[in-house]
Amino acid sequence: MKPIVRDAIYEAMRVSGNPSSVHRAGRLARRLVETARGRVAALAGAKPQSIVFTAGGTEANNLAIYSAAANGVERLIVSTIEHASVSAAAEVSALDVSELPVSQAGVADLNALEANLAGDSRRALVLLMSANNETGVIQPIKAAVALAKQFNALVHVDAVQSFGKEPISFESLGAASIALSSHKIAGPTGVGALVVGDSIIIRPLINGGGQELGRRGGTQNVPGIVGFGVAADAISKSGNQMAELEALRDHFESQLRAQTPSVVVLGADAPRLRNTSCFAVADLRAETAVMALDLAGVCVSAGAACSSGKVATSHVAEAMGLPEAIAGSSIRMSLGWASSHEDIDRFFEAWPKVVKRAGHASDEGSNGAMRARVGE
Ligand code: PLP
Repeated sequence: MKPIVRDAIYEAMRVSGNPSSVHRAGRLARRLVETARGRVAALAGAKPQSIVFTAGGTEANNLAIYSAAANGVERLIVSTIEHASVSAAAEVSALDVSELPVSQAGVADLNALEANLAGDSRRALVLLMSANNETGVIQPIKAAVALAKQFNALVHVDAVQSFGKEPISFESLGAASIALSSHKIAGPTGVGALVVGDSIIIRPLINGGGQELGRRGGTQNVPGIVGFGVAADAISKSGNQMAELEALRDHFESQLRAQTPSVVVLGADAPRLRNTSCFAVADLRAETAVMALDLAGVCVSAGAACSSGKVATSHVAEAMGLPEAIAGSSIRMSLGWASSHEDIDRFFEAWPKVVKRAGHASDEGSNGAMRARVGE
């Protein structure tokens, strides 16, 4: 969290009013919420009344999918690289679900989308994220929306990863809705928003006192929403440092390739978010590397988390057609506003030991063949 966000949250916690109360303290709290709404709307290129504050990106995605039937949607087309908050919500919906595949570069296949839309006249909701959370690969959302319009279909975009990093204008995009999350833009965790088009009906997941124009019941999380607004405003006013982070990411990747020539950088052939690097060394299990790097003070994530003691492979790497030895080994590194060259140096102090301990030589070995197989 940026210090400016922390300070704003602290100040907001001193306001005792409930934004739904009509008294002075309530009106003050309401003003804080509405200022934040305007700030988030400005960064999203949306009208303030389009913003529905939620408890994060997960709830925003669920709300969009839950509301689909109320908008005449009878089926869902879900990209194979969606975050679990989309794919799991689609699975439990009462609607038919079909898959939208991606290319080996990790980009949604628009020919497949067109064929799918043309092959079934029931109204569809297309679920395509703006950028993938593991690889950072940017998706062709404008083209998907244009295609969907031809077939009277709707599009919901999980914009959690790209919001604040790549420009977006909800108004000109023409999607039915987009999901946002505060903690991806240096705001607090547990706050997000669904941005909804004027003609879209929202069926609340949480029913209550009519807050958020009847679209999400319950007293708003005033300090969290204020923090989200300040984080958005900081980007609108001072920029997002993506040019610096891209230089740092590229420096990281060139050093990584020099030290470990067998490394595979996922999605390297596609446009990517400039702060993200997802890489794998065949059979160097991601969870082993993540733990070893953590001991060295470096926080990175496995492409796929393990669940109930069982190590999963990355569904994103699998969807890209990468072999199991890579899909179980992908590590994602995200740079933030406070990341520095020293952080990258710290990584490379630890990395040779991680590779060596796992029994990998840091030169071309059997992994060289793997790189050739995945087309790097
Ligand atoms: N969608 C994507 C692409 C994400 O990366 C995340 C979080 O990592 C979410 C949705 C969920 O957002 P939240 O953690 O705010 O619920």
